[in-house]
Amino acid sequence: MDGRALAARIRSEVAEAARELGSLRLATILVGDDPASQLYISRKHDAAREVGIEPLDHRLPASVSQAELLELVSRLNADESIDGVLPQLPLPEGLDEPGVIATVDPAKDVDGFHPLNAGRLYLGRPTLVPATPRGCLALLVEAGVQLAGARAVVVGRSVIVGKPVAHLLLQADATVTVCHSRTVELARHTLDADVLVVAAGIPALVGPDMVKQGAAVVDVGQNHTAAGLVGDVDPGAADVAAHLTPVPGGVGPMTIAMLLDNTIRAAKYRRGLLAFPPA
Ligand code: ADP
Repeated sequence: MDGRALAARIRSEVAEAARELGSLRLATILVGDDPASQLYISRKHDAAREVGIEPLDHRLPASVSQAELLELVSRLNADESIDGVLPQLPLPEGLDEPGVIATVDPAKDVDGFHPLNAGRLYLGRPTLVPATPRGCLALLVEAGVQLAGARAVVVGRSVIVGKPVAHLLLQADATVTVCHSRTVELARHTLDADVLVVAAGIPALVGPDMVKQGAAVVDVGQNHTAAGLVGDVDPGAADVAAHLTPVPGGVGPMTIAMLLDNTIRAAKYRRGLLAFPPA
């Protein structure tokens, strides 16, 4: 499953949609000077520019107060020329992250983390859905993996990946099991999986001996180790699995492509070109 190729195709579709929609703007907010966050922001900006979405760069010092931060979010919410509002996470220590996420206008919530959009996904009405989980599903669909009736196992229950990807798989009629740090005998679950999504942040957590013959395996792990960037799945699992996403070049490139696609979706909702489901 080649994330670079699929992401490139999605970006070109996004570019075409952006041309049709006219002026599109994605506002990001970076608080503090964490180098990883700075890098993510600059990648998002480059990718946005490349598809014809204008990035707006807002930066605040780590010393900013919650009230000042919320004021900026509200100002961006109110600006009709802005389609997406994205506070880069994690926020520095001392700021109330859930409070910031809940202040973003749900119709501009291109990260899909607002409780209203998370709730819509839970209710089976996915609207603005987090980018990485969307990327996982798109890779599976592109590979022609049968999801209806499949046994799907998700390793990890984070709000950013594990939980939303479990809901998307359920929405696609898979039978879903969610494993996490307290799961007893993880391999008993993973060995049963026709579809296995691993998002635990632990290098080589899933070895070839934990994968069912012929399974489709999506490795969401992005672990920076002495050996470079590695996933949560041992690459040797490729000998057992029918499909395995590589790291790098699998889920990673899909995330930014889906963020750009979410910006298109948000613009369409706000312009009445797509029906925004009632809360
Ligand atoms: P991500 O950003 O990829 O979602 P997080 O670091 O936020 O990852 O979350 C890690 C998730 O992985 C948590 O939900 C945790 O329960 C799960 N996890 C951690 N260790 C294990 C383990 N040994 N087996 C299964 N799940 C695990």
